[in-house]
Amino acid sequence: MPQSASEIARRVRTGETTARSVVEEHLAVISRRDGEINAFNLVTGDSALRAADGIDARVARGEDPGPLAGVPVAVKDNLCTRGVPTTCSSRMLEGWHPPYDATVVQRLSTAGAIMVGKTNLDEFAMGSSTENSAFGPTRNPVDTSRVPGGSSGGSAAAVAAGMASVSLGSDTGGSIRQPAAMCGVVGVKPTYGLVSRLGLVAFASSLDQIGPFAGSVADAALVLEVIAGHDPGDSTSIPQPAPSLVAEVGRGVDGLRIGRVVDLPGGAEPEVEARLEEAFAALVAAGARIVDVALPSFAYALTAYYLLAPAEASSNLARYDGVRYGMRVAAADTNAMYAATRAAGFGDEVKRRIMLGTYALSAGYYDAYYGKALKVRRLIADDFARAYSSCDAILMPTSPVVAFPFGDKVDDPMSMYLCDIYTIPTNLAGHPAMSVPFGLGAHGMPVGIQVLAPTLAESTMFRVGGALEAAGRGA
Ligand code: GLN
Repeated sequence: MPQSASEIARRVRTGETTARSVVEEHLAVISRRDGEINAFNLVTGDSALRAADGIDARVARGEDPGPLAGVPVAVKDNLCTRGVPTTCSSRMLEGWHPPYDATVVQRLSTAGAIMVGKTNLDEFAMGSSTENSAFGPTRNPVDTSRVPGGSSGGSAAAVAAGMASVSLGSDTGGSIRQPAAMCGVVGVKPTYGLVSRLGLVAFASSLDQIGPFAGSVADAALVLEVIAGHDPGDSTSIPQPAPSLVAEVGRGVDGLRIGRVVDLPGGAEPEVEARLEEAFAALVAAGARIVDVALPSFAYALTAYYLLAPAEASSNLARYDGVRYGMRVAAADTNAMYAATRAAGFGDEVKRRIMLGTYALSAGYYDAYYGKALKVRRLIADDFARAYSSCDAILMPTSPVVAFPFGDKVDDPMSMYLCDIYTIPTNLAGHPAMSVPFGLGAHGMPVGIQVLAPTLAESTMFRVGGALEAAGRGA
């Protein structure tokens, strides 16, 4: 388990400890454990120590370095970091050094946080196990024979193993919540537009959101407060200041109406179902009321997502052509160079998505596939709107399964895609959702319970998340 971010910041700000010693401790955990876990594509130890000295100097001068003073943070390697390689765990971006920082990276550093490294992911964030990385898979710190989930597996594992106090991931269809559940940490996908995507390498732009991993609900709230809020550099950024969330975590759920989805697609492991029942009971004991809600289009979300996300990806990834970024394979003419570069640079899953998406967008099929999927997306948003007219938040599993052994699903894309059956619908609707560790499932692996809330109702979501955590099941 990671060290608490709020506790680190408190001790650094008061001079009780130094940022340098905090960073040194975390770098020591990284050198002890990351050889096996492989959460990091790159450890930025020297610059982290320099930044730590800067923080300590400011404290010595009587300045306040900010709410995350000295907090070691790991950053998913699809977030741009100025001058620091950003690979998306793909050969395609080999040697690319972004000329700017993502807005979230800038905001973390302004708040006093210290980046200790860039974390491994499924190539271009496509996957649910971090096995699709050009740099080898990440291992789950709870059981290293199992996957950490994905695509932000490195960020989840870094926090679960205490190699960073908190981390950032991206969530297009579940890539923060699902690995958080599998590694036994908290993971939050904010409302679409709450956190700036400037500097996030795009997978599916209408679905992508950046969010935090943390060891506690309060730490996740603290990080989200820092990274959220309007950014004129992202045209989809909501023009509002960041909400105040830390205070919500301990407010309790007295009087809240929690939705139970009566027509939720089945298939979750029995232990996962049992933890969900216990989570409902814990909220009732804390004063919440359970109401039944229906989401009849929920079952079509996965199908719609696997048309919409690949369609957007095929367009977004067209830019990797051997000219503008990263690698180039020389060939006789320009077209041959494009083809050779893309054949060598992308892995199998990325190629599968590009082909799927190009097909779904092609003339003659556009209406039948892409157009139809957009209609399903609307139906899902309508379902949620109806449900939220009678409840404040919804509870369901984060993942139908606990972390599985390596190789279990790599040859069966459909069974891999099914890992996201409960997380994808909120991405389609643009709503916030978070995963909170809640006891154990099969093989003693962590189970995550997912809290869903309406657009910009992060405050409600954090109240419910805090109450689940307080119920004390942990991971
Ligand atoms: N696992 C899903 C996919 O492969 C979601 C990925 C994500 O959220 N980035 O597309």
